Amino acid sequence: MPSKREQVCRQCRVEKTKLFLKGDKCLSGKCPVERRAYAPGEHGKMRRRILGYAIQLREKQKLKRYYGMSEKQFRLFFERAERRKGVTGENLLAMLERRLDNVVYLMGYARSRVHARQLIGHGHFLVNDRKVNIPSYEVDAGDVVRFRPRTAQTAGTKELVESTQTKAVPGWIEVDRAGFQGRIKALPTRADVTLPVEEHLVVELYSK
Ligand code: SF4
Repeated sequence: MPSKREQVCRQCRVEKTKLFLKGDKCLSGKCPVERRAYAPGEHGKMRRRILGYAIQLREKQKLKRYYGMSEKQFRLFFERAERRKGVTGENLLAMLERRLDNVVYLMGYARSRVHARQLIGHGHFLVNDRKVNIPSYEVDAGDVVRFRPRTAQTAGTKELVESTQTKAVPGWIEVDRAGFQGRIKALPTRADVTLPVEEHLVVELYSK
């Protein structure tokens, strides 16, 4: 039986996509998706065409795993995306990108989205100077996200921020590492989502 650590990477191998679930390892040559670009298991190397429901399900699972959400949470996000004006799939992706855990990760203030969720849950982040401990909190344009002052002073935080100095940050976010903070310059759009995903398949799946 694979270890818990291997099970995390297994999720990426099933989706045949890097989901960046493990922090530094994801950016190193040790990433199993790069070393073994086929699905896990005995029949992993077999070429299989997946169609219809199966392919829709895979796209949904990929998104859910990438943002680290439960089925229930993901469904709720979808229903909210449906109620908004515009294209449901694009709304969904933009909403997922705006999650506070995703933003903290993209700023380089956590090693992974899972790590970001833990830090937020423990109250280490402020949004516009107010403590927010809800990882699914949706940031808005102009919001300033920063470490709680006491957290920013710890050696662990300084080391973490130092270690992500060279991390590329998307254009919709501005990071001030010296100030242990970042600002949402503009709301993300579909084009800002780097995960290769066909969101219309998720819409089709939930529209059945
Ligand atoms: Fe593991 Fe990260 Fe590679 Fe996924 S991207 S397989 S989590 S190392």
